[in-house]
Amino acid sequence: MYDIIIIGGGPAGLTAALYACRANKSVLVIEKGSFGGQITYSPRVENIPGFLDVTGNEFAEKLVEQVLSQNAEVECAQALKIVDNGEFKTVVTDSGEFTSKSVIIATGAKHRLLGLDREEDFIGEGISFCAVCDGAFYENKTVAVIGGGNSALQEAILLSELAKKVYIIQNLDFFTGEEKLVNQLKSKDNVEIILGAVVESISGNTDFEGITIKNVSDEKTTDLILDGMFVAIGLVPQNEEFLDLIKLDDRGYVVSGEECKTSSEGIFVAGDCRTKNIRQVTTAVSDGAIAALAACEYIDK
Ligand SMILES: Cc1cc2nc3c(=O)[nH]c(=O)nc-3n(C[C@H](O)[C@H](O)[C@H](O)COP(=O)(O)OP(=O)(O)OC[C@H]3O[C@@H](n4cnc5c(N)ncnc54)[C@H](O)[C@@H]3O)c2cc1C
Repeated sequence: MYDIIIIGGGPAGLTAALYACRANKSVLVIEKGSFGGQITYSPRVENIPGFLDVTGNEFAEKLVEQVLSQNAEVECAQALKIVDNGEFKTVVTDSGEFTSKSVIIATGAKHRLLGLDREEDFIGEGISFCAVCDGAFYENKTVAVIGGGNSALQEAILLSELAKKVYIIQNLDFFTGEEKLVNQLKSKDNVEIILGAVVESISGNTDFEGITIKNVSDEKTTDLILDGMFVAIGLVPQNEEFLDLIKLDDRGYVVSGEECKTSSEGIFVAGDCRTKNIRQVTTAVSDGAIAALAACEYIDK
């Protein structure tokens, strides 16, 4: 029996482990993939306070080392569901069941992919999801932004300040984002808007070299030579496993405010998997600390 089980070993979950261990609680972190979460995809991170420049992997390694030095236990497994027995919770995984007094869900989110061949291989190596994070690597280069909502428009505007040329490619014949952003984008000389087109394939064998797009109405294809592609077609939370126990919003995020509580007593949430506006490392680690201290308080009561 653990005091706290944390599901997800990304920045939020590992920070929660750090705080809970330092409060003398026994902690198990369950991770289904790589410890470190999404940030391990980033070749260079420049907006984590205290690190001028660090790779996502280096940052993740430091976090894991710090958490292990505090005696947190870790388990490589996928959490399949939580059974709430009131005072105790059982986390059922694909490699056994674990029981604790409190659970923190820190399962993060995944950027929605386009579904192209080899797309995952190029993440962090030509394909990016975050202009704030990775835009600087494309100074004076040619990039495409895929999507037509507010995120895509903002990414394209930001990139237009750095890149030589920015294509924005949207599958519909119109943008779904705010008109103000659309107008801002239209005023940029180095932005080319392509509506009614979808990305059909990625070119390049080992290095990302560009894409082929297809016009939706006449099916005509065009090759674009690019240095990078920013995919901004939404995020997908990974919370389906907990649907019957805690309240999710209509997009699948765990409903919670800054206090990181869920609709189930003793179950807390941290990071990208909860309802929030800004999904970054800094906001995830902040949640991790808040959720851990809230779980400690719940147990001590
Ligand atoms: C390419 C890329 C570049 C980025 N660059 C930056 C940047 O420069 N600066 C910045 O601040 N942010 C950046 N971000 C965003 C940042 O990585 C996220 O905001 C942050 O990682 C969120 O942390 P998290 O712990 O909430 O979730 P995640 O990092 O998503 O971690 C969640 C973890 O939970 C695990 N998990 C999910 N479901 C289960 C389950 N059922 N059982 C067990 N484990 C599970 C996942 O495998 C994952 O490891 C970037 C993201 C990407 C993809």
